[in-house]
Amino acid sequence: MTDTSVNPRAGATRWTCPFCLLLCDTSTVQVDASGRLTLSDSGCACARRALARFVARPSTASARVDGRDCSLDDAVSAAARLLAASRQPLFGGLGTDVSGARALYRLACRTGAICDAAAGAAQMTTLRATQDRGSFFTTLAEVRTRADLLLCVGGTPVDQAPEFFERCGVGESLVAQRQVVVLGGTPADDAVLVGLRRRPGVTVESIPLHGDLFGTVALLSALVAGRAVREAPAALQSLATRLQQARYAVIVGETRRLPPQGALVVEGLNRLVGSLNQTTRAAALWLGGGNGAGTVNQVFTWLSGLPLRSRAGPRGLEHEPLCFDAQRLLHEQAVDSLLWVSSFDPDVAPPATSLPTVVLGHPDLARSPASVFIPVSTPGIGSPGHLFRADGSVMLPLFAVHDDGLPTLAGVLDRIAGALA
Ligand code: SF4
Repeated sequence: MTDTSVNPRAGATRWTCPFCLLLCDTSTVQVDASGRLTLSDSGCACARRALARFVARPSTASARVDGRDCSLDDAVSAAARLLAASRQPLFGGLGTDVSGARALYRLACRTGAICDAAAGAAQMTTLRATQDRGSFFTTLAEVRTRADLLLCVGGTPVDQAPEFFERCGVGESLVAQRQVVVLGGTPADDAVLVGLRRRPGVTVESIPLHGDLFGTVALLSALVAGRAVREAPAALQSLATRLQQARYAVIVGETRRLPPQGALVVEGLNRLVGSLNQTTRAAALWLGGGNGAGTVNQVFTWLSGLPLRSRAGPRGLEHEPLCFDAQRLLHEQAVDSLLWVSSFDPDVAPPATSLPTVVLGHPDLARSPASVFIPVSTPGIGSPGHLFRADGSVMLPLFAVHDDGLPTLAGVLDRIAGALA
């Protein structure tokens, strides 16, 4: 991995934005005299909002046990005691980078913890569809240089990934003519399309669902496969023809927008992509796993061979995509402690629970009613790190904007593991 040592410079700092799954590295961050962090260009609103929650000064946040400030040593000991007394811990949230994920995996193996990310249900939709039938993935670079038809299913992904169309080169000359089609969008998506239509070489279209998303995807898939479909809407027939004629069609979807049983939608679209690949080129780009969840999933998979919603316990390695749902485990009281990690976003707080809880994260999470709270550094702000990008095959280094003086998550977890030993 690339060395990303702390950059102590004041002023503009080379930066990879860790605040959504696109990991843009086109902006720099300015630190003003009061320690305020701002983007050197207009950047995106999401990054600006996230930067406003940090100040480039050494943190004064303290560890806490039972609501009282304490030393880091005492908090680590309390967390270790809590985990040692737990017969079935749950590790949730999982907002961290590669080295934090590696340390989480080590501690999970030591304690037999079940691990599930904050948006675990959405993450499982693509995972399960891929496990069952496989899929064709792509990268942002490939979309940018080749895709002439982008089909956004269920809406445009600009809430979750604000610079998505810029990163895909929509309007750039790399692909002279691009179509952007939204299937089942909202008025907000129509406004996005109006903006895209002004770009050179871009045509846009919004197509309503025919019934629900499941039925519409099944219908479109049948049309693309050339099966006889009675009374198919003209707009879907036309879309199927254009998908067949495209040099490289890319289906874009956000896992968090999918309805319950959304894996069936993913499976249907993966099947559609497979049909297209018999005569032309196509791929799917499923966006999800922000806040480090996608990275933790990658790391667990390479370390154990299993994705999240897994456990290394007395029965060996187990993967239960439904039973190991954190919400379900808490609701059924199938776990007796919770360790929650959220290094990037203080709004990703632990669920309300009466269980003994350890929270490791952004200093603003001190407000959560945890038994033990330890503030940790945010990779890409107060310390360096690494994250996987939305396309899952590219890992980017994160650069520290300043040294926040907080311990890294990996450092804290290793100390807890040491205390347990
Ligand atoms: S689009 Fe995402 S990664 Fe890019 S600057 Fe905005 S928040 Fe950061």
